[in-house]
Amino acid sequence: MSQKLTREQLIETAERFGTPVYVYHAEKIEEQLNELQSAFAGCKSKFFYACKSLTNINILKLVKQLGANVDCVSINEVMLALKAGFEPKQILFTPNCVDFDEIEAGKSLEVNINIDNISILERFGNKYGNSYPVCIRLNPHIMAGGNFKISTGHIDSKFGISIHQMRHIERIVKSTKLNVTGIHMHTGSEIKDINVFLQGLEVMFEMATHFPNLEFIDLGSGFKVPYQDDDVKTDVHALGKKVCEAFAAYEKETGKTLEVWFEPGKYLVSECGYFIVKANVIKQTTATVFVGVNSGFNHLIRPMFYEAYHRIENISNPNGAERIYTVVGNICETDTFAWDRKLNEVREGDLLVFYNAGAYGFEMSSNFNSRLKPAEVLIKEGEAHLIRKRDVFEDLLKNQVEVL
Ligand SMILES: *Cc1c(COP(=O)(O)O)cnc(C)c1O
Repeated sequence: MSQKLTREQLIETAERFGTPVYVYHAEKIEEQLNELQSAFAGCKSKFFYACKSLTNINILKLVKQLGANVDCVSINEVMLALKAGFEPKQILFTPNCVDFDEIEAGKSLEVNINIDNISILERFGNKYGNSYPVCIRLNPHIMAGGNFKISTGHIDSKFGISIHQMRHIERIVKSTKLNVTGIHMHTGSEIKDINVFLQGLEVMFEMATHFPNLEFIDLGSGFKVPYQDDDVKTDVHALGKKVCEAFAAYEKETGKTLEVWFEPGKYLVSECGYFIVKANVIKQTTATVFVGVNSGFNHLIRPMFYEAYHRIENISNPNGAERIYTVVGNICETDTFAWDRKLNEVREGDLLVFYNAGAYGFEMSSNFNSRLKPAEVLIKEGEAHLIRKRDVFEDLLKNQVEVL
């Protein structure tokens, strides 16, 4: 069974809270987490929700209630996670290119720290020696992910410490007595081929031999969810079986039981999200019929930034004749959500819904063009709760200092 909100629920929510609005479905998040947990039930697995995909405090609390941990990429995400009730040990802090102060702040909050730079590793080792455990983010040099912008494990990536620098890592660990309890990789987003994970895991097992205190291997994320009807998604059950077999074999060979950690973002919250907008205008030009909606890349940037495909539906006119439209925003800049999309006839005032809008939707929104950020609504057990108020005009001026 797949958890979905109905067209009626979406229309009702849009009418009650206005548009544009992000709507999240709690039961879908639960379903996705359950699926991951059951796929990896054969080994000691832990899931850290990559909360940069959607950080509303209610989503964090929900994920906590469901029994997951959380992965944070900034100290502010760490503080949000603590505020949501996560224990420090349930938080993994995986920042990149941050000041040493931020790492120290993470340490003083007693969260798990993931270090991805030789210079930081050395400073951390010099300062704390073996008094605080660390995880090391490695770059396994595997090219993976939906496109270049979202792949992080290739040779030109800024992420992680190259596996070819292992000798240097060892020098630092040995001379500072660093207590390395975990190694980590995250090769990118939207990885369809489970062999990428398995190749990465091979590399990680090799690297594991360098760290006698190792307790876990973190394989990051990159689980793909379907954005289009015929899309392939990462086969987490096949992956779970293979990964657990590999860990069992490792245990047999070395006598060591390691945990496997993952950091799913999209997998947990992409499909739970619906972004509802209103068709402001239908604009027929010489070549195209545009639907201009009351939103733009200030609210949902993935189509323009990553050429991401989001399925769109006209929920106000589900039986209308199908026509070809180009769906654009109202920003003064080219902000095309979708070219040549077949939609049931769109009339001015109709509600359109973008699917898969939970991950990196609201989270990447801005006030560009002095437009207001949308509201967020959580639907749980059939009830709709406003979890973020729509911006108001005053928000635009909130931090501005008038000096003239
Ligand atoms: C963004 C990120 C993730 C989540 O990636 P998804 O594709 O959303 O699952 C996991 N781990 C790290 C370190 C990340 O930066």
